[in-house]
Amino acid sequence: MVDVVALGELLIDFTPAGKSANGNALFESNPGGAPANVLATLAKFNTTTAFIGKVGNDQFGSFLMETLQKNRIDTQGLIYSKDVNTTLAFVHLKEDGDRSFQFYRSPGADIMLQEQEVDVELVQQAKIFHFGSLSMTHEPAKTATLKALHAAKEKDVLISFDPNLRPALWESLSQAKETILEGMQYADVLKISDEELEFTTGIRNLEEGSQFLFEKFELKVVLVTLGVNGCFYRFGKGTGHMTGFQVGTIDTTGAGDLFFGAFLHQFLQKDVSWEAIKTEELEAMILFANAVAALGTTKKGAIPAIPSLDEARQLLEGRN
Ligand code: ATP
Repeated sequence: MVDVVALGELLIDFTPAGKSANGNALFESNPGGAPANVLATLAKFNTTTAFIGKVGNDQFGSFLMETLQKNRIDTQGLIYSKDVNTTLAFVHLKEDGDRSFQFYRSPGADIMLQEQEVDVELVQQAKIFHFGSLSMTHEPAKTATLKALHAAKEKDVLISFDPNLRPALWESLSQAKETILEGMQYADVLKISDEELEFTTGIRNLEEGSQFLFEKFELKVVLVTLGVNGCFYRFGKGTGHMTGFQVGTIDTTGAGDLFFGAFLHQFLQKDVSWEAIKTEELEAMILFANAVAALGTTKKGAIPAIPSLDEARQLLEGRN
């Protein structure tokens, strides 16, 4: 029995690492991919997890497989492609400190996952099935994602969705919007950033944008992450805002993934259906997720920055 199963992209992020003696740019190879970051957070908090996806039969693919295993994520659903290489992305730091991504994915193994390669039984035995939008940018991975979503729905597995817009990966922004909205049809728990909310709804106001999605889809909760400002939520029982934690932030890579992993962990700890969750419980879950994500910004990278449960509790106690 595995509690949380995620399907999605798994790739190498090359992040800037200074200059060589010759003055040429150096890059560090880091494991990348939002769904795996979510699972690594859950696994760190002792939740059982499994990953479904595809990497190349190359050194980067082996490195990613080992990384998942080292982080106690089950890899029975991770396939090695014989035909294509592991997807690569280069991260460039812009002058204003913002990051831009350049993907080497034409095609990369992550988008070559085929529907018959999805372990349907693994999906159907889970308590939560998690996905993002980057496995839906191209075929055959889009059909594979939809297959897993139908399988999860059939068995009433709770579905969590983090759209994670990366404009460069889509043929067009209208395709991105359409596909993200298609993904929302399956979601129970939606985590979305304020920019993505505006992108998908055309509405900047958080109350109105989240209401639009809530009415259009059968969502149980919408979590709109606001960076350092924490998270706005819409729930069957109303809306609210949980402020973030001020910490010594050095790198926000994966903050949203740590947030979502921590939030899902809190839900599983409750061991009740969504309908039984009260507003103050939801707020405590979000507060915990804010604390975990904030701590995650005090170290470099995503997976290496996941704090322990004790560290998160200490930060929470400090606020109380
Ligand atoms: P990403 O796509 O980079 O994974 P995101 O855009 O989905 O992230 P953000 O809104 O940047 O998500 O951040 C998610 C959560 O992380 C926030 O809700 C907040 O709890 C925490 N967080 C992010 N940045 C900071 C920061 N600078 N200081 C404290 N907490 C932060």
